[in-house]
Amino acid sequence: MEKYITIVILAGTTIVFLIRYIKVYSWKKPKKELSSDDKQFLLANIKYYAHLSDLDKKIFEYKIQEFLLNVKIIGVDTTVTKKDKLLIASSAIIPIFAFKNWQYRNLKEIIVYPSNFNLDFKTSGPLRNIKGLVGTGYMEGKMLLSKTALHHGFSNQTDKRNTAIHEFIHLIDKADGVVDGIPQVLLEEPNQIPWLEYIYKQIGSIKTKQSDINEYGATNEMEFFAVASEYFFERPKLLKKKHPELYQKLEHIFKQDMIKRW
Ligand SMILES: [Zn+2]
Repeated sequence: MEKYITIVILAGTTIVFLIRYIKVYSWKKPKKELSSDDKQFLLANIKYYAHLSDLDKKIFEYKIQEFLLNVKIIGVDTTVTKKDKLLIASSAIIPIFAFKNWQYRNLKEIIVYPSNFNLDFKTSGPLRNIKGLVGTGYMEGKMLLSKTALHHGFSNQTDKRNTAIHEFIHLIDKADGVVDGIPQVLLEEPNQIPWLEYIYKQIGSIKTKQSDINEYGATNEMEFFAVASEYFFERPKLLKKKHPELYQKLEHIFKQDMIKRW
């Protein structure tokens, strides 16, 4: 009899624990649709969204709502408008759009600064060259973004750069525990060594000025992955033409081959 009581208590405790775990780690679901003004804003400013089919547009809008409902966005010395929030949420959704249930569980808060900042998070004084940052240590779960860089990413559509997308790529890379330029989706397959060898070859081409990929990508494996992904999402046609192999690899990583995006 005692044995059965113990089993019942253990089962009960496990169920209570699981319910709490699911509550803490699941994102809240949006109940409202995006307003027609917001949809118009996306249409005019987010090329990726504008090219989606009607059905995919609806999915994109839902994911934007879900993201904004679950991640806090605050401004420091600047106001954050709904438009800023839509740009940030779009940057978050574009790279993981093809992943059905993706949630940025390693992100709780985004802090927006008026312009570029330095390592002390100051927007005045020396060495203000940081446009975006994914926090570690006591800053874990936070992303820092420069508002000017956020806007530039979407207003200049030819420079292959988009700071906010870049930072979200680091978060996706980090979802498996480490930022190493190897996203979990690749780790599931046995080809991570060729991927790394491929990255090193590409970094070599950047260093010897034989590549049009931004030289910041030559910093290390994770920066190469983030910079190449910015290029992939901002100038897909050009990347396909200039670097067909890289294009194909990124298309596979981000599962974008099934999505109409231009
Ligand atoms: Zn970076």
